[in-house]
Amino acid sequence: MRVLITGGAGFLGSHLCDRFLVEGHTVIAMDNLITGSMDNIVHLIGHDRFTFVEHNVINYLYVQGSLDAVLHFASPASPNDYLEHPIHTLKVGSMGTLNAIGLAKAKGACFFLASTSEVYGDPQVNPQPEGYWGHVNPIGPRGVYDEAKRFAEAMTMAYHRHHGLDTRIIRIFNTYGPRMRLNDGRVVPNFIHQALTGQPLTVYGDGSQTRSFQYCSDLVDGVYKLLLSGESNPVNIGNPNEMTILEFAQVILQLTGSKSEIKHIKPPHERNADDPMVRRPDITKAKQLLDWEPKVDLADGLEKAIAYSRSKLL
Ligand code: UDP
Repeated sequence: MRVLITGGAGFLGSHLCDRFLVEGHTVIAMDNLITGSMDNIVHLIGHDRFTFVEHNVINYLYVQGSLDAVLHFASPASPNDYLEHPIHTLKVGSMGTLNAIGLAKAKGACFFLASTSEVYGDPQVNPQPEGYWGHVNPIGPRGVYDEAKRFAEAMTMAYHRHHGLDTRIIRIFNTYGPRMRLNDGRVVPNFIHQALTGQPLTVYGDGSQTRSFQYCSDLVDGVYKLLLSGESNPVNIGNPNEMTILEFAQVILQLTGSKSEIKHIKPPHERNADDPMVRRPDITKAKQLLDWEPKVDLADGLEKAIAYSRSKLL
């Protein structure tokens, strides 16, 4: 296959570039480097099946030659990032998706949308199956991401139904691993960074809110299997191992051997308005349809993420 990966220099995008190259495919990575980084793909520069194009997908998109798949992974994904770039986040999820779908249609390629568990908002159902419609505040600070992704899903389904476009929608739950920016503001890199530098681990509120963390290689496997399947309806990909944020802070202290204290604080800004109180994927569909389930234990994955952070701090 010859595939375009938007957001190809980002955390997940760059791991996808690696995987598609290993599988023998040709990869064009596109990124405007707002939250992505050349550091994530520098090892691929010069590879004969890899090309990098610096471009913002909210602008007209064109790629020469044939394409078999367009994987649209471009978007700020950390609450800090989408609060800092609210308009970009809305544009990349709407105009960027439209451009990426248009390109897929023009090339007769499969369009693969990176959607998110954020489409479920602050869920009133736990775990969240794909059939749950969500509980989202459209005008809250997280609305720029949640609603852009919901719009992107709606557009993907419309192109599928109206034009018969071959499409996929993955709903990605909290994912971590090497190449997440140490300062990206999400809880995994934050706690690891704080633990390694002897700073207090900043638990927002009482820490009773829950998340379920999946290692990046499991996500990449899920993407690959979903692309090869013919499934056009959304599929959750995440690890159902749910824990409170306070428990997660204790896990990080244990794995890093850090003497940092745990500090309960009010989040630094409005980022935590509408912070989901629970999140856990129902992965029944992925298991049945894709024969996929997460393989990497939290401790094993975190060891790798911690080693990455250590290397960046040297
Ligand atoms: N969180 C925290 N301390 C931090 C960063 C995040 O307690 O330093 C909490 C945050 O309030 C949320 C959870 O951790 O409940 C996960 O936040 P993250 O930013 O990783 O992403 P989200 O899952 O909210 O998109």
